Amino acid sequence: MSEPISRATPARATPAQATPVGATPAPAGERLARRAATLDAGDPLAPVRDRFVLDDDTVYLDGNSLGALSTGVLPRLTDVITREWGHLRIRSWEESGWWTAPERIGDRIAPLVGAGPGQVVVGDSTSVNVFKALVAAVRMAPEDRTEILVDAATFPTDGYIAESAARLTGRTVRPVAAGETAAAAGPRTAAALVNHVDYRTGRLHDLPGITSALHAAGALAVWDLCHSAGALPVSLDADGVDLAVGCTYKYLNGGPGAPAYLYVRRGLQARFDSPLPGWNSHADPFGMAPGYAPGEGAVRGRVGTPEMLSLLALDAALDVWDGVSIADVRAKSLALTDFFLECVAALVPAGRLQSVTPAAHAARGSQVSLRCAGAAGVMRELTARGVVGDFRRPDVLRFGFTPLYTRFADALRAARVLADVLGEATGETHPTEGTP
Ligand SMILES: *Cc1c(COP(=O)(O)O)cnc(C)c1O
Repeated sequence: MSEPISRATPARATPAQATPVGATPAPAGERLARRAATLDAGDPLAPVRDRFVLDDDTVYLDGNSLGALSTGVLPRLTDVITREWGHLRIRSWEESGWWTAPERIGDRIAPLVGAGPGQVVVGDSTSVNVFKALVAAVRMAPEDRTEILVDAATFPTDGYIAESAARLTGRTVRPVAAGETAAAAGPRTAAALVNHVDYRTGRLHDLPGITSALHAAGALAVWDLCHSAGALPVSLDADGVDLAVGCTYKYLNGGPGAPAYLYVRRGLQARFDSPLPGWNSHADPFGMAPGYAPGEGAVRGRVGTPEMLSLLALDAALDVWDGVSIADVRAKSLALTDFFLECVAALVPAGRLQSVTPAAHAARGSQVSLRCAGAAGVMRELTARGVVGDFRRPDVLRFGFTPLYTRFADALRAARVLADVLGEATGETHPTEGTP
């Protein structure tokens, strides 16, 4: 599905530009530049950008794939490596709090996903956590619930893992469009794995509505928050979500390969039967008992020795959230994506792009995805000119807007460069996937 980009609809959440009566209207570029300056000046999150390592030569719109480095990470890791590892060595498991870091850092992520303490644990990749969450969810369901609903447009790893989880638990996967999950759930549904925000289109799904429909059908709701946590409000506890997983290297800026997190609602923790019951999740891990006895609470989601360096980089990265209101983040995210769409509509030659990101705020995450002929080549050219987004096959340009460090001026610059690239590539010279 795609929506034409309309020049007639000005962005919401942006103040109207007053044009003096009788004056010649300023050219679109100038008008937009003044708007960007006004919006940046009034942005309550503007100072947060200084907590990141960024350069003004690049407009970084790929924080939904790899969040930027924050300034506290290097000094923290230097200390972790030189003192905690280098000097204290094995004593750090206790003295530096390494052993309990997965739960402690889970509790730092908890407020960003609307979870009370003791329900989030950090460790392993998102893929591994999807596996744990889905198998555990199905194990909680009665045997006659034979199907697992999976978001048909999901990021592939979730689908692959769900297939394997289904085989292991003797169930079958039924792919359904995320928006149809509520209608598809029935007496045969054990659980559904749904993405809060679609990674390709940026569509935001109705988490509270789908969760309650699943519950009404007697099924468990497993949510993937990779593209929502850190970009918009998530209320896992209030919405009664059963299990959830998410990534920390996207909007949480934890660094490449930073460990993911797993949420298990408190009321379900005693029934959480992990398919990967490693020794870290044991009730008495250092008892080294031959038999398994699960620990209590979030610790049950652990597997083996935590990836300490990545975990502590994430810990430092989470400092940027101190004092940040997620409501401000959402308001800025919508204003940024609105403004970017408005700039694109005003500057890019008509008919060259179609937005696959919903125009409605209620259905929009924090990215704008634009379909375009020769998208791969266009993105390469944008990157060469300092505007970094990414390309998703077959024809999608993806621009992620991280409200903590993206400015309205950046959105305008990205649209300008996009307009230049598309304007230059006319007629036979349309860029294609093979062109540099
Ligand atoms: C980014 C992303 C992942 C990443 O999985 P990894 O195991 O960290 O590679 C998984 N699912 C979704 C929906 C994602 O957006």
